Amino acid sequence: ALPDAAAEAQVRADDRAHVFHSWSAQGLIDPLPVAAGEGSTFWDYEGNAYLDFSSQLVNLNLGHQHPDLVASIQQQAGRLATIQPAIASDVRGELARLIAEVAPDGFEKVFFTNGGAEANEYAVRMARQVTGRRKVLSMYRSYHGSTSTAISLTGDPRRWANDPSDIGAVRFFGPYLYRSPFHSETLEQESERALAHLEQTILLEGPSTIAAIIIETVVGTNGVLVPPPGYLQGVRELCDRFGILYIADEVMVGFGRLGEWFGIDAFGARPDLITFAKGVNSGYVPLGGVVISDRVAEFFDRTAFPGGLTYSGHPLACAAGVATFEVFRRDGILERVRDLGERIVEPTLRGWVESHPSVGEVRGRGLFWAVELVRDKETREPLVPFNAAGADAAPMGAFAAAAKKAGVWPFVHFNRTHIAPPLVISEDDLVRGLSVIDEALTVADAYTTS
Ligand code: PLP
Repeated sequence: ALPDAAAEAQVRADDRAHVFHSWSAQGLIDPLPVAAGEGSTFWDYEGNAYLDFSSQLVNLNLGHQHPDLVASIQQQAGRLATIQPAIASDVRGELARLIAEVAPDGFEKVFFTNGGAEANEYAVRMARQVTGRRKVLSMYRSYHGSTSTAISLTGDPRRWANDPSDIGAVRFFGPYLYRSPFHSETLEQESERALAHLEQTILLEGPSTIAAIIIETVVGTNGVLVPPPGYLQGVRELCDRFGILYIADEVMVGFGRLGEWFGIDAFGARPDLITFAKGVNSGYVPLGGVVISDRVAEFFDRTAFPGGLTYSGHPLACAAGVATFEVFRRDGILERVRDLGERIVEPTLRGWVESHPSVGEVRGRGLFWAVELVRDKETREPLVPFNAAGADAAPMGAFAAAAKKAGVWPFVHFNRTHIAPPLVISEDDLVRGLSVIDEALTVADAYTTS
């Protein structure tokens, strides 16, 4: 029944009058009313279709209205819609077992939360309990969520107005060869120097005061920063040396985004705690959690864990999680992510570095890539300044508008666009969407100075 101007007007009016939105000055926004979604596409009320290249905040790994996920929630709602967390529930236990089976050896237990920020909150709380220490180290270029400890650990500017809600947060520079804080020229140098910097940070902060280091396995919103060879191994070695726990934040990259169950599998990393959310059930019902190594879990065998949530392991959310495992295995999702990433996304994006004056670097893995836009390839001056807003951000706004007009909804953050479609996107749609982005980049090219 599209287009439907009356319905659109009602949705917009209710939203503008009553919905208080995240991260926004409420009087300056005009959220798009969305009427429907199916697979990798969603529609507005005018009947315009958008191919979703951002998976709704890098969340919707199995796409809109996946029949298996929808059915699993419907069936669970018909059986037992909710049950409190102190009870043993079949779907909660089944999902925890499935997660433990794909986690590294030595991870058997899962604490469920309602999302990613809470997962990080609880991982940090566990680390503080186990070590008896308070500080937590995190990267400047990071996002860990918006609750009080999670936003304090976050490095990106969303922290600024909230700082310091958790006084134990200490930040450091992670590896980022394209804009190396360490003047490195090779990945090997970047890895070594970033580790030396982290070691210095630990020594100067006082190793005996540090409970944990939290790292997004591939830094997500802040740049799709892939760790250089040896970096995450080096973090493990520093943690072992100083009795610090290593928390892998897999909220964005877990459950298939990199073509692995967990991103750590791609890099041979060995954390003590793994946090997840989003892709575990594509956000159909809010769910996140912490996968707990035996070493941490054993601490709580005789000591009570001081924390809990009414909705921990909600049956509807867990049912969608169990269905996610079935779909991933039946449809070979991890294999197709690796295949599409290597065969289509990577070569196409590498070509853009040659063909577009505005494309300074591309990087990523699986179906998770960043295209970093610059004014000048020599100086690497970003196409828009760090944390640009309003008129300063106009070139990125123009790029995004061109992509949307041509039917692709892009992910844009500062001077980057990320390629993060649902993992079920058809090959045809992927190729079509990439060609729309390719064309929209000519809009960005017009702002270059070289
Ligand atoms: N950690 C990472 C790496 C994320 O990307 C996000 C959200 O984008 C979060 C944590 C916070 O998750 P949530 O929004 O579910 O609280």
